[in-house]
Amino acid sequence: MATGRCMKCKEQVEIKDGKECVTKNNMRMLKGCCPKCGTKVNRILGKAK
Ligand SMILES: [Zn+2]
Repeated sequence: MATGRCMKCKEQVEIKDGKECVTKNNMRMLKGCCPKCGTKVNRILGKAK
């Protein structure tokens, strides 16, 4: 399960409803939200091909 850093809780949280996407600069990102406060949490997964 993926985790990311929540800016609001200031701790590592499990990413809820995570969706993978590719940014303009060709990086794979997992976008989701914090299960505790609902703030958006992103995690960079690495370079896309
Ligand atoms: Zn949070």
